[in-house]
Order: sequence, then structure tokens, then C-alpha cells
Amino acid sequence: MSEAIRTEIYADNAATTKMSDAAIEAMLTVMKEQYGNPSSLYSVGQNAKEILEKAREEIASVINASPSEIIFTSGGSEADNQAIRSAAETGRKNGKMHIISTAFEHHAVLHTLKRLESEGFEVTLLDVHEDGIVRVEELEKAIREDTCLVTVMFANNEIGTIQPIREIGAVCRAKGVLFHTDAVQAVGHVPIDVKELNVDMLSSSAHKFHGPKGIGFLYAKKGVRITNLIEGGAQEGGKRAGTENVAAVAGMAAALKETASRMTENAAHMTEMRDRLIDGLIKIPHSALNGDRARRLPGNTNFCFEGIEGESLLLLLDDRGICASSGSACTSGSLDPSHVLLAIGRVHDVAHGSLRLTVGEDITAEQVDYMIRNVTEVVEYLRSFSPVWRDLMSGKTQFIL
Ligand SMILES: *Cc1c(COP(=O)(O)O)cnc(C)c1O
Repeated sequence: MSEAIRTEIYADNAATTKMSDAAIEAMLTVMKEQYGNPSSLYSVGQNAKEILEKAREEIASVINASPSEIIFTSGGSEADNQAIRSAAETGRKNGKMHIISTAFEHHAVLHTLKRLESEGFEVTLLDVHEDGIVRVEELEKAIREDTCLVTVMFANNEIGTIQPIREIGAVCRAKGVLFHTDAVQAVGHVPIDVKELNVDMLSSSAHKFHGPKGIGFLYAKKGVRITNLIEGGAQEGGKRAGTENVAAVAGMAAALKETASRMTENAAHMTEMRDRLIDGLIKIPHSALNGDRARRLPGNTNFCFEGIEGESLLLLLDDRGICASSGSACTSGSLDPSHVLLAIGRVHDVAHGSLRLTVGEDITAEQVDYMIRNVTEVVEYLRSFSPVWRDLMSGKTQFIL
């Protein structure tokens, strides 16, 4: 195959997505024509302000929030930090310094909680079980008099499992505890109605739904006290200082409007392709799907293959034009196995041989079949000279999967 017609299948949509044409066009228009500062009073500034507020309305309507409940941030990480820090600050004032979360959250949540622990907070991390789903009964039992926040992600970024958000929201509401959800993987991909779900705070990031990188938003229900991480001017209702990234906000709104309008068709197609991929990969001997098969994001596939090293798998797949991941982009490059896979009970050796393929809306059946064929071949090839595999085959060590 010549370089010019080299296959390229982008199957890492959980790490980031390709920007949509609608998002790019919206950004270009702003960058070329709406260059004013939204805080300026002359019309060039007010035009930019109008773009900003129209985007806020469009974004709010997708999750059934009010525009005044949307705070633009630099992305999902900032939104997570701000939500958790805000709840912690309120908690500290009320003498409530206990927070509940789960063991498989994104590091933007886990590292913020670690920091709060060093500042005197107590954190309970719930088990997510083998299927990658939090149990609502266990969460309910963990809530104490001094609990100030429950933060549970909507859908996991590595294994795609979708959490019982509505039930968790109901429990938190009944107990009067603030509920935040990191919905970065869910917004634009699954229907979200913050009122129906009883969510108090929700984090989102544009680059996970075909918008630009470096922009996101925090939904904070009216009445929830938000403290700012960045001090300065009075932008974003005084909750997030700094001149707004108008172009990125416009790009985010355009991307979200488009993905939200096609959500049902997209989800149906991606689910079909995901299931085809799972059915093909599960045939590889000594492999296992990570996370519940049905309660997962439409595009997420995550497997463990015994006797191989995830990193070598990724490099060989790259040679064959497949962009894949062994887990989250934030942990690749480190040799530690994924904290998500460890949280669902995979042992170190097995967790090392993981592969995440997250397909997008435009994936085809031919591309899925190409991935099945090539992953199968590469796993077989890597096992052919793996000492770990040899020991497993000779019976010197026991298979786990
Ligand atoms: C990508 C991601 C984040 C971080 O979002 P950024 O915009 O990259 O900061 C947080 N949480 C989850 C679940 C994610 O997938």
C-alpha cells in the first residue's frame, strides 16, 4: 500500500474528536469578523457579546438549563476543579468536610480530591465493581451528616460505562447533598436533562463532541454557590475572570448543536458498529471486554488481552493506520496500569494488555472489520514471541482471562 492511500481509522474519540465543519466555520467567522472584546461598550464589542450569549443559550437548551447557569471554562478539567472546590468551600463553611466519589474518576476529579484531603477533607471512593457501575445503595449508605458533595462521573472515559445518574441524583436530593457529575464523555453523545436528573453541577468539554480544545463549561444550578479559581475581571458573572474565548465558545455551541440534533441516529449507528467490533474482538482467545456490555457509551470498546503489552499493540496498530489507545491519554506514557482497570478488578499483568477503541459517528462496517482483522493478527503476532504467553501456554503460569 502506498503512503498516499494509507489507511487511517481514527478510533480514539474518547481522547479527542475531530472538529466538525460547523464548528470550524463558526470559529472562523468570529475570528475574522467578531474580534471585539465582549466587555467593550461599542458595537464591535457588543457584537462579540451577542455571539457569546447566543452560544450560552444554545448550550443551555441542550441540557435543559438556563443560560445563567452556564459558566464557560477552559475545558473539562477546569470545570471539574471549579465544581469540586466550590462545593468544598461551602462544606467547610458549614462544618461538612466529607466528599463521596468513585475510584475510577478522571484525574481532574481524583487529583482535586487528593488536594482537598491534604487540606483536611475526608474522601470516600466507592467501588465500581467488575461491570464498572456504581451501586446506588452503597452510595446511599456512604452519605453522612457531614457529607458536602457527591461527585460521580456520567460515563467513564476508558471503559465507557454509564452510571445511574438519575438514581444518584434522587438520593442526593433526598439527603440534601450537592451532586456533581463529570459529564465530559456524555454531553453530545447521550441525552442529558439536568432537571430530570437532579444534577446540581455538571462538567463538559467541547473537544469531546467535535468542538475545539481548550473550551468547556460548568453547569451550576441556580442557587449553588460557585467560587472562582481565577480572580480578575467580572466576566462570567464574576465566577471566571479573563476575556472570553469568543471564537472557541462559538465553535463549541455550533458543535454541540449539531451533535445534539443528530444524537439518536448517531447513537444507533455507533452502537451497531461498537457491537460488531465487540463481537469480533471477543473471539480472540483469552480476551475480555472491560465494563458492562450494554450500559456503555455508543462508541466505546475496551478490551484486555492476556500475555501482551498494550504499548506494543498500539505501535503496531499505528503502523496499520489504526489510531487506538491503551486507556486514557493522560496516563499513556506512564508505565502504571490504568487506575480504571484496576478499579474494576483487573490484575496488573492483564491491565497492561488493554486496548481502547472509541469509534466516531462516521465509522463504517468495513473499517470495523479492518480493525477486527488487524487487532487479531497483531495480538497473535505479539503473543508469538511473548515469554509471558509462552509460560501461560506451557502451563507454567495460569490464565486469568
Ligand atoms: C477529557 C476528559 C476530561 C478533561 O477535559 P479537558 O477539556 O481535556 O480538560 C475530564 N473528564 C473526562 C471524563 C474526560 O474524558
